Amino acid sequence: ASAASTTVRNQSFSSINSDDISYFKKILGERGVVQEEEKLDDANTDWMRKYKGSSKLMLQPRSTEEVSRILHYCNSRCLAVVPQGGNTGLVGGSVPVFDEVIINVSSMNNILTFDKDSGIMVCEAGCILENLISFLDNEGYIMPLDLGAKGSCQIGGNVSTNAGGLRLIRYGSLHGSVLGLEAVLANGTVLDMLGTLRKDNTGYDLKHLFIGSEGSLGIITKVSILTPPRLSSVNLAFLACKDYTSCQKLLSEAKRKLGEILSAFEFLDIKAMDLVLKHLDGLRDPLPSSMHNFYILIETTGSSESHDNLSNCYFESVPFSHITREKLEAFLLESMESGLVTDGALAQDINQASSFWRIREGVPEALMKAGAVYKYDLSLPPEKMYDLVEEMRERLGDAANVVAYGHLGDGNLHLNISTQQYNNSILSKIEPFVYEWTSKQRGSISAEHGLGLMKADKIHYSKSAETVQLMAAIKRLLDPNGILNPYKVLPMSVLSQIGG
Ligand code: FAD
Repeated sequence: ASAASTTVRNQSFSSINSDDISYFKKILGERGVVQEEEKLDDANTDWMRKYKGSSKLMLQPRSTEEVSRILHYCNSRCLAVVPQGGNTGLVGGSVPVFDEVIINVSSMNNILTFDKDSGIMVCEAGCILENLISFLDNEGYIMPLDLGAKGSCQIGGNVSTNAGGLRLIRYGSLHGSVLGLEAVLANGTVLDMLGTLRKDNTGYDLKHLFIGSEGSLGIITKVSILTPPRLSSVNLAFLACKDYTSCQKLLSEAKRKLGEILSAFEFLDIKAMDLVLKHLDGLRDPLPSSMHNFYILIETTGSSESHDNLSNCYFESVPFSHITREKLEAFLLESMESGLVTDGALAQDINQASSFWRIREGVPEALMKAGAVYKYDLSLPPEKMYDLVEEMRERLGDAANVVAYGHLGDGNLHLNISTQQYNNSILSKIEPFVYEWTSKQRGSISAEHGLGLMKADKIHYSKSAETVQLMAAIKRLLDPNGILNPYKVLPMSVLSQIGG
């Protein structure tokens, strides 16, 4: 049975009453207190429409001060809360399990400062990622992260999930690019860790506790982030490989030969490609001449047009150019001669580049359109990654469509099992097999999506008992009543020792 169906409400939490509503209206005004059924229905339901809570209240603070007052009050009343950003999370972490109060920070969406020399931006947590990308484009910078959900997800949610995405191979994780944070603890204490320094070794670097803690330790209200300059030369290739071993070899070659300009290395298998072409409108196979088993997207980004080849794929403000694409072209030619690549196309203009990206970024949407989907986000040694996909296909036979794609350059597989509807007999064939398999390889059962509700009680597959105990002690210290995002991240057996 799924985590949602086996979780029991913690009876030490209070339920909302009319005095609570009056108090919240007093501090937030009518506008910040949402009780309309339609809006609550959206906020109670996750992106996959798989997890659904029954909260009767969503609060929309506009300042850190308001977040602090809300949390102080909820803590004193023992009212459980769920911090929510763009609600694009994929592990059931952003929606209530029962009647928790939803605290949605989307009204806190101002860019506070941007330093044109250093590229350091300070903004509020509710800024939508795509808006930050556009703002920086005008300033000649880019965000160090990019992901398919950019139109809705928020920087606070990105930081809280330590989102990886398409550029991690080049710019590293948010643990590197986030320079500072402001966060509000369960009791309303505001922690000002909003530094803008590259280097600061004064004591424990506590911001890292909040990066990736999925709203279980505090609500992030502001973020300071180092953004890289936008380089003038971007190229994108869509390639086909006959087998998985060739994809892997191509990755090592790309790291060696395109190292300093490589900015994305993504893969999808034929099942993922078929789904996208079937379910998403207006997309065509870029390599239609024959059937291929695997597809790879390689993006390069550099500063020298003639050296790295210029075709700016993303930013309308930089004109597309046909300057020779020496480096990537030479790499592709070599890879085709050696047989690693069987077919390929280089994006000729911004539109074509967008359509290549749309194929890769559209896989989650296509999976949703195909029916029910069991999603697994795994870190595995790249040489073992596809063995799991093949074993899963053998286990499930015709009962399900096993689809693989992901951030191959980061050793991150998105294994998706698509069926007509959710079914416990299929689930029992997938779990715990998938977790045990991953654990045996010393992989991670959550590469970038987090644990949320889905995998809270699976943490031991990737973390030792001692480590989980220390996490629980930290949770207890920062949130003694356990009001922040209950039932998520840590197992119930550990969480039940908190609060009451
Ligand atoms: P939400 O979904 O609202 O919340 C996610 C978690 O963070 C929840 O636990 C919530 O309680 C907590 N939270 C949110 N805001 C705050 C805050 N201000 N303070 C404290 N806690 C908070 N993820 C990747 O890593 N890489 C990808 O490539 C990627 N691609 C995706 C593609 C699609 C189409 C979709 C739908 C999702 C994808 N995701 C990906 C997952 C998701 O988009 C990311 O996890 C994203 O970072 C979540 O941001 P959000 O604002 O939507 O957060």
